[in-house]
Amino acid sequence: MTAVRPDRRSLLRHGRDVAVLGALLAAPRIGRAQGAAQVVVIGGGFGGATVARALAGSGHRVMLVERDATFLACPLSNAVVAGLRALDEQQFGYDGLKRAGVTVAIDSATGIDAQARQVTLAGGRRLGYDRLVLAPGIDLDFQALAGYDEAAAELMPHAWKAGAQTTLLARQLQAMADGGTVVMAVPANPYRCPPGPYERASLIAWYLKAHKPRSKLILLDAKDTFSKQRLFQRAWAELYPGLIEWVGQSAGGTVTAVEPAERVLVTDFARHRADVANVVPPQRAGRIAGLAGVADRSGWCPIDPGTFESRLKPGIHVVGDAGIMGAMPKSAFAAHAQGKACAEAVAALLAGRTPPEVRLINTCYSLVAPDYGISVAGVYRPANGLLADIDGAGGTSPLDAPRDVRRAEARYAEAWFDTITRDVYG
Ligand code: FAD
Repeated sequence: MTAVRPDRRSLLRHGRDVAVLGALLAAPRIGRAQGAAQVVVIGGGFGGATVARALAGSGHRVMLVERDATFLACPLSNAVVAGLRALDEQQFGYDGLKRAGVTVAIDSATGIDAQARQVTLAGGRRLGYDRLVLAPGIDLDFQALAGYDEAAAELMPHAWKAGAQTTLLARQLQAMADGGTVVMAVPANPYRCPPGPYERASLIAWYLKAHKPRSKLILLDAKDTFSKQRLFQRAWAELYPGLIEWVGQSAGGTVTAVEPAERVLVTDFARHRADVANVVPPQRAGRIAGLAGVADRSGWCPIDPGTFESRLKPGIHVVGDAGIMGAMPKSAFAAHAQGKACAEAVAALLAGRTPPEVRLINTCYSLVAPDYGISVAGVYRPANGLLADIDGAGGTSPLDAPRDVRRAEARYAEAWFDTITRDVYG
């Protein structure tokens, strides 16, 4: 990717991002505890690592349990798919959290006894806790799409968890002949990163236009509307005319089954044979949430939006993609904001105080091309048991913005990524 990596001072010159950076960098108001408690956090992604880091130095013992020694971030991974960025730019370790005072256990949590307040790890250890925070992200729901399972994902990658799947999809695109057809399957809501499939379609289209201009991309969608739709569709018409065909639900876009050996995606209306198939299946909260008893029949975790405490199991909090967060989308920015608010709530509850009021910001940037960015922002507060939009506090990039605004937003996307990953892992 060609965009520059601005330092923090040059970032702050961009007026619009001052608010965003302020929200990212604001330190949670957590005092030092009188008596030390044990807080265990499961999942070292954007949500869990934020909680652990925010509570480090609070006087409580904070242990982060994470399956992988290296975290692979999804934001900007669509640029890796399009060959614009290297996968190692998505990698982050846990040394920064250790320096901040977090005890990090690289292990998988395999069981939770909410009654006894105990976590079991795959390595055999048992960890007691006073408060537990779950931030396991998503699991792909392999039961939800006929024909799609882990073996099928090796032929029709999802690339919805960054890593080997991301590079597999990139390699398949590189190997495809000019004139080939790429087909993407996009699920119904809710799923991780609502604008993510459309950013991916845009960057794949950018790659095809540059390297395989006779090719086309079909987006089979289980919805009739999507995030930043008018901005995406306006940009597709401008940058990639005739290249992307979007098929919404009412036009027969819902993929009901796949046939991996033939690379066929089946809808109620047609069978689509792909040269490269990118199947983003339905999702649910990471498996440990189900084992802990904090996920409901929807597969996601109902929480109290003021404290992120589970509505099903007291003493367990859930942040990030795994939670039912109302209007707040499943994004890294959201998981980070929820992580900070959850840490404040946990510290307050351990001290016998009332948790502070919650106000959260989310901004999602999408790249439509390496030098063309768009965004959506929202501000949220608890209302009617969920996180609700504060009316008039958010919005999207203007529909008719000149190209220098789009170029600036592409730079903000990179700057945002640098800032949030430094804040969490640096
Ligand atoms: P994760 O970040 O996935 O972290 C979960 C962690 O828990 C993982 O490290 C996992 O290994 C660990 N874990 C799970 N179970 C266990 C267990 N049992 N024991 C130990 N560890 C466990 N968001 C944005 O804000 N901006 C973007 O531009 C953006 N772009 C995206 C593009 C794509 C293609 C995709 C797929 C997503 C994008 N997102 C974006 C969304 C973002 O990646 C997620 O919303 C975010 O990662 C959620 O954070 P989380 O902490 O809930 O989960």
